[in-house]
Amino acid sequence: MNHIAIVGAGIGGLSAALALATAGFKVTVFEQAKKIGEVGAGLQMSPNAMKVLRQFGLEDKLRPYAFVPQHACMRDFKTGEYYLKSPLGKTSEARYSAPYWHLHRADLHKVLILACEDLGVEVLLDASVERYTENGDQVTLTLADKSEHSADLLIGADGIRSVIREQMLGKESPTFMKQVAWRGVIPASELNDVHIQPDACVWVGPNRHFVTYYLRGGELVNFVAVEEREDWHQESWREEGDVEELKAAFAGWHPEVSQLLDHAKSTFLWALNGRDELPAWHQGRVVLLGDACHPMLPFMAQGAAMAIEDAYALSQLLVKYSVLDALDRYELLRKPRATNIQKMSKDNAALYHMHGGVFGRMKLNAVKIASRLSPRIIQAKLDPVYGYDITKVLI
Ligand SMILES: Cc1cc2nc3c(=O)[nH]c(=O)nc-3n(C[C@H](O)[C@H](O)[C@H](O)COP(=O)(O)OP(=O)(O)OC[C@H]3O[C@@H](n4cnc5c(N)ncnc54)[C@H](O)[C@@H]3O)c2cc1C
Repeated sequence: MNHIAIVGAGIGGLSAALALATAGFKVTVFEQAKKIGEVGAGLQMSPNAMKVLRQFGLEDKLRPYAFVPQHACMRDFKTGEYYLKSPLGKTSEARYSAPYWHLHRADLHKVLILACEDLGVEVLLDASVERYTENGDQVTLTLADKSEHSADLLIGADGIRSVIREQMLGKESPTFMKQVAWRGVIPASELNDVHIQPDACVWVGPNRHFVTYYLRGGELVNFVAVEEREDWHQESWREEGDVEELKAAFAGWHPEVSQLLDHAKSTFLWALNGRDELPAWHQGRVVLLGDACHPMLPFMAQGAAMAIEDAYALSQLLVKYSVLDALDRYELLRKPRATNIQKMSKDNAALYHMHGGVFGRMKLNAVKIASRLSPRIIQAKLDPVYGYDITKVLI
């Protein structure tokens, strides 16, 4: 096997392209967008993903764009009381042998694409894939312009609305998770009167939460504001958000949140969608990766991290085993981990949104007591996520 086609130049598709090109495969990426780019928002890159990016040789290239948060915090929406304040920075780097960084998506995307180009990966833009056909040892893609392209293996890294997943497993729209997220960035230089802590902070409140963290060495403040909603009427799953509506949704919140929002000039609104565990991730010579096979609520900040781990795992298995054997092993290795993190992300929604009235408050207070008396309880939850090292699992 030599030539691999990847559908989708998101973080998952480009990570796979880089890993496979490094391993010596010829790689072509088909991306529907006319211009390469990522949404203008932040990304938390936890140590498990950083270990792969380091293995790709990208840690030093990303360092100038990174912000190192000092703590992971959970704070009360009104009083600002800390339910959790767990060290990140040097402490977490020592514990997990890799840093916890905040990166602007566009920066990570740019670094990935340059690394792909250096290795001769062909990235075709305005290349919308409509379907594939399997014929013996080959898979042929048909694009919207009716051109056809063949390869020895097809990777569907085409996100939550994956056409490759649909052809493989049948038409089924993703489920609206009854939550929407506003995302935006604000230049820190405009925030004279607002003091945002250098942390990854989740502000928790009834039926909604608010996340703040810095990007680009502290130049920008990123926010994600999540609100529960019964329905989503738009055709698109992302649209320009209304800043006034956003401010109204978080009116009366702690001044660190409300004053920050006073400086927001624009925002994007996303419907948060999900899917149950898929029955399979591969069929014949076609395999799925990233959000195409395990979309998740962003409440563990692990969606892109899982796609990066997938990419590394798939590339290493394809080097060691025959194609069909590698795809079986890939699914066996990756599905339980991704499914577990999908579930953890969903569980966090209830905690962050104080579901269950008094019971919800009790749970938050239990987190507070545990984090003060025995930080090990918090670590026990996070160690399997951040401490995991796919580059060692597959030596
Ligand atoms: C609010 C929010 C916050 C998040 N925060 C974090 C975080 O802090 N940390 C983290 O790890 N994750 C986070 N995530 C999750 C993360 O953004 C996603 O899991 C990740 O971007 C998925 O990458 P992907 O490459 O699998 O899919 P996508 O990014 O969706 O990329 C798919 C690509 O395929 C292309 N495509 C689609 N269909 C076709 C087609 N037919 N033909 C050709 N091309 C096609 C698309 O144009 C796109 O470029 C967050 C998500 C949200 C919504």
